[in-house]
Amino acid sequence: MTDAMPYAVPDWKMDDLRARIDALNKTAAKLGCAQVVLTIIGDHIKEIFPHRAYDEYGEKIAPKMVLFIDVTLTGEAPKLNGWSFLGTLQHLGDANILRALPGVTIPESYRLRPNQCDHCHTVRQRTDTYVVQHEDGRTRQVGTSCLKDFLGHSDPATIANFCSNLGDLFNEFGGGGEYDDDDFDRCPRDAEYFQMDRYLSYVVAAVRNFGWVSSTTAREYGKESTKNFALTAMTERDQAKLKDAAIPTDAHRAEAAAAIAWMKSIDGTWTQGDAYKENLHTLFTAREYLTYRDLGLAALLIPCYEREVERRITEKQAKAESHHVGTIKARMTFTDLLVTRIFTTEPGEWGSTYICGFVDADGNQLTWFASTCPAFDAGDTVSLNATVKDHSTYHDIPQTIITRATVLSVTPAGDPEAVPGGGCVTRDHTRRW
Ligand SMILES: [Zn+2]
Repeated sequence: MTDAMPYAVPDWKMDDLRARIDALNKTAAKLGCAQVVLTIIGDHIKEIFPHRAYDEYGEKIAPKMVLFIDVTLTGEAPKLNGWSFLGTLQHLGDANILRALPGVTIPESYRLRPNQCDHCHTVRQRTDTYVVQHEDGRTRQVGTSCLKDFLGHSDPATIANFCSNLGDLFNEFGGGGEYDDDDFDRCPRDAEYFQMDRYLSYVVAAVRNFGWVSSTTAREYGKESTKNFALTAMTERDQAKLKDAAIPTDAHRAEAAAAIAWMKSIDGTWTQGDAYKENLHTLFTAREYLTYRDLGLAALLIPCYEREVERRITEKQAKAESHHVGTIKARMTFTDLLVTRIFTTEPGEWGSTYICGFVDADGNQLTWFASTCPAFDAGDTVSLNATVKDHSTYHDIPQTIITRATVLSVTPAGDPEAVPGGGCVTRDHTRRW
């Protein structure tokens, strides 16, 4: 019997699987039959929702990310004189459970067979009997002690156990990931895995709304670290219970994805031998998921990415001197404006004002005092129709003040060359500018 169907085994059960295969193979060697071979063909992450929806405190239990190892198992049941082992009949009252080895079928007619041996014709109280099949198709139900007459070994109990264990192994680990919920309740925290992009979108939401809090700062000032805040929010099964500020918006998700893409694309000139930068780069290029111990380091990606983005904006602003553009009172089209900042004022009688800063391709700086939250964010590239209201200066830098702007197009920050965005409702724009 061989069975090359792939099985998905939870990562944290692999040791158990290997131990059982080792034990089986010792017996296989004694019986002179083929070894059970485990082949790893890949892995994947799956979100498991425990059946028990609430814990002992009445709190919803969060789903767990579990790493599954895709494996194939091949093995061979003892075979002699044309007879081979099909499986085990487990006798339960009047009916039987048919435990066939993978790749073979025990005929349904065995479902209601009494607890008997076709070979010696004894009816005895046995827990299990076995079904063997001849090459010509005949099948027989036999007890433990008669197995040897078919499979030709002096130690029938060993054969019976081996066949039974082999069947159990394939049945248990051949379930395609259908495991007891209890198994997953026992899944240790350090065996859980986390999707990079999902976790980092919670980190972005936390940083946007509450600022970056390192684990050191958290310890010193009794705050909650960004890592813990994001982890708690992400693993809260009842997301409706979370405050809005903890839940990532589409913009947060876009920034997380952009940050990951940036980290994957950078080369050694960014890390420059700096240990934690090297570690970050290694972490994000090595694989697509995070383990519990990676979460602190992974969260650092977001402040690093934001510094990189600010550096790019500064670089672009420094490239060319700013000059005034257009003629006052003239309406004109501005293309390819990089949004350098959005500053939200405290709400006044007429609500907040959104001060939007731009730099055009020539390095000229523009400012728009918008009365409603603009449909773009820092880092986006936009084209506008607007009226030139004034030619002023800010910190001695010429600024063209525009008004009545109509947004023609927005290219969102989504690629590594772009800048992070955030929803302007919950975002604290004052923090970064
Ligand atoms: Zn018998």
